[in-house]
Amino acid sequence: TRLLEGKSALVTGGGSGIGRATSIVMAREGAFITVADLSGPAADETIELIRAAGGEAQAVVADVTKPDEVTAMVAAVVTTYGRLDCAYNNAGVAAVHVGAGGQRVGDISQQAWDRMLAVNLTGVWLCMKHELAAMEGQGGGVIVNTSSIAGLVGLPGSNAYVAAKHGVIGLTRAAAIDHAATGVRVNAVCPGYIETPMVAEAMARRGDQILATVPMRRLGIADDIAEAVVWLCSDRSGFVTGTTLTVDGGYTAG
Ligand code: NAD
Repeated sequence: TRLLEGKSALVTGGGSGIGRATSIVMAREGAFITVADLSGPAADETIELIRAAGGEAQAVVADVTKPDEVTAMVAAVVTTYGRLDCAYNNAGVAAVHVGAGGQRVGDISQQAWDRMLAVNLTGVWLCMKHELAAMEGQGGGVIVNTSSIAGLVGLPGSNAYVAAKHGVIGLTRAAAIDHAATGVRVNAVCPGYIETPMVAEAMARRGDQILATVPMRRLGIADDIAEAVVWLCSDRSGFVTGTTLTVDGGYTAG
């Protein structure tokens, strides 16, 4: 039997990388997918891939930092599929997207700091707020938030990203205990270096250096994360809440 048969799942940042791969694997496991992204064409491409493989999906344009758009995003899930069973809060930006690359605390601009926290931490909180309301109204559900190895350890020149991703783990734990009794599970996934557009620039610049820090000596692939998220969303992880699942080729084991 398929792990997510008949479930309604929402994926933010589903137009690229890990979000796209997870949307596709969730659909293959029987879920109806709402693919949300800043970019409409990117979200559309993901739903075309799902439909081509015989799955069911809709695309929604939503910026996770905009309250009205997040309200409409969750409403679109419930309107089309009747409920929200699984929410994967994956939308995120790297330092390079907000002009916060390679800087230390004293060097990063206030604007870059604010944008990083707005997308990678406050965006998760805002999505959870609406997802939890929908899930509690129907008697349960599962949320998976995207942290990172940067949520577990410091990385050089990445203070805003590291702070935001540590924050996601704290938020996940706090929400998990607050909502456990209502049938909602909340967990986080911590990817290591994964081969997606987000890390392409860093790999081109210092790929050998990065691989030297990964015990498995390779990048992960987006499907490595997708499989972990699907398990966390499935009934097979029914007693798992408030935890982090690290998928990093051994990066944080040393
Ligand atoms: P990606 O850049 O390939 O995809 C991110 C997607 O999120 C894009 O489609 C983008 O349009 C969307 N997005 C960005 N800002 C948004 C916003 N404000 N609202 C809605 N959508 C938005 O990146 P990825 O590598 O697939 O990363 C996905 C998540 O995984 C991110 O949270 C990232 O921090 C995290 N992560 C990635 C890695 C890695 O090595 N790739 C490692 C650890 C954690």
